[in-house]
Amino acid sequence: MQKNYGFETKMVHAGYDGDEATHSVTPPLYQTNAYYFDDVEHAKSLFELSKSGNIYTRLMNPTNNFLEERITALEDGVASLAFSSGHAAMFNSFVNLCQAGDEIVSSANIYGGAINMMGVSLKRLCINVKFVDPDDFSAWENAITDKTRLFFTELIGNPNANISDIEKIGEIAHRHGIPLMVDGTLNTPYLCRPLEHGADIVVHSATKFLSGHGQVMAGIVVDGGFDYKNNPRFPLFNEPDVSYHGIVFADLGKAAFIMRLRALIMRDLGSCLAPFNAFMTLQGVETLSLRIERACENALKIAKFLEAHPEVETVNYSGLESSKYNALQKKYLPKGAGTVFTFNIKGDRNRAARFMDSLTIIRNVANLGDIRTQVVHPATTTHSQLSAKQLNDSHICEGTVRISVGIESVEDLIGDLEKALAV
Ligand SMILES: *Cc1c(COP(=O)(O)O)cnc(C)c1O
Repeated sequence: MQKNYGFETKMVHAGYDGDEATHSVTPPLYQTNAYYFDDVEHAKSLFELSKSGNIYTRLMNPTNNFLEERITALEDGVASLAFSSGHAAMFNSFVNLCQAGDEIVSSANIYGGAINMMGVSLKRLCINVKFVDPDDFSAWENAITDKTRLFFTELIGNPNANISDIEKIGEIAHRHGIPLMVDGTLNTPYLCRPLEHGADIVVHSATKFLSGHGQVMAGIVVDGGFDYKNNPRFPLFNEPDVSYHGIVFADLGKAAFIMRLRALIMRDLGSCLAPFNAFMTLQGVETLSLRIERACENALKIAKFLEAHPEVETVNYSGLESSKYNALQKKYLPKGAGTVFTFNIKGDRNRAARFMDSLTIIRNVANLGDIRTQVVHPATTTHSQLSAKQLNDSHICEGTVRISVGIESVEDLIGDLEKALAV
C-alpha cells in the first residue's frame, strides 16, 4: 500500500492485497492455531529465525497480520501488534518497557480501569505510576526520575473529553529520553494520528470505534519507531536477552519496541487476539471514517442541545466554543471533537439516575464507540473503584453522565434526551 494514498483508501485496502491461492476479495479468516512445517529442517530454521514463517497463532496469524498492517498504515507507524483487549495491549506495553523498580508518569484524567491497572496492579509488581494533571506541564517534568521509562496519556480523556497537549508533553518526554505513549481510543486515527504530533507509541481499545459495532474485544499497539539504542533508561533493550538467543532488541532499529513485544511479551504472557475478532475488527475499520464523521456531527448537535437545556449544568465537549479545550480541539481534532463526552445533570445522583432510566433509544451500557448511542454513570460504574479524591481529580461528580454518540437519526436521539430530561 502506497504511503501517499488517502486515509479512506488505506482503511479499505491496506494490509491485504489479495490471496494467490483463493483470490478471496475480503481478507480471509485463518481460524487455525498452528501451521505445519514442510520438514524437520524447515521447523528448525523457523525457530532459529533464519527463515520467517508462521509457527503458532500466539505469535502470529495471517488474519491478525492483515489487521496489524492496516492499522500501521492508518496510524503511519512502523509496525503494530494486536491483543485480546485494549487493557491487554496497555499492560503488555507497560511491561515491555518496565521491570520492578521502574516508573511511569501518567495523566490522572484517564479511563478508571486504566487508573486501577496502573495505580494498583502495576504497583503490586513494583512498577510505580505517578499521576499528574495532564494540563500542568511542570508536573510532568517534575515527576521524572532516573527510573522513569514512559509518559502515558489519552489524547481525548475518558470520560470528560479533556484534550492532552501531546506535542508539549512529548517535547518534555523527549528532552529526557523518555517515550510518550498515547491512548488513541477516543480519537481513532481518523480524527488524529498522535505519531504525527510527537507520540512514540499509540494504543487502542479496538473494542470501541475500530471494530465499532459492539461485538468484539480487541486491542492494538502501534510502534512509532522510538530509538532505544544506548539509552541508559532501557537496559531491557540494550542488554543481550537471556530468553532469546542473547538478542539485543535496540539493535533491531525502528521496530525494536514491537519486536520485543511480540517475541518476548506476547510469547510469555499470551494475550493474543482471536483471529475471528481480528476478522471482525478488519470489517469495522473499513467504514471507520463514515461512522466517525456521522457520529461527530451528531455529537456536536447533541452537545449544543444539552448546553442550552436548563436541567443541564455543564457539558464537557471540546467541540463547544465554551470548552477550555476548544483551541486544542481545533489543533489536534480539526475533523471533529469525537463522540464521547460528559454532561452534568443538575442535582444529585438520583436525578441523574431518573434521567438515565427514562431514556428509551439510548441504552445504559458500560461501553463506548458503538454505532448505537449509549450512556453510563461513571461514578457508580466505569470509575466506581476510584476513591473520592480520585473522582474529584478526574472531575467526575454525582450528576455526571457520559454519552457515546452513535450514528442514529439525530432528531430521535435529541427527542429521547429531551423526554428523559423532562422526567
Ligand atoms: C475501554 C478502554 C480501554 C480498555 O480497553 P478494553 O478493550 O475494554 O480492554 C482503554 N482505554 C480507553 C480510553 C478505553 O475507553
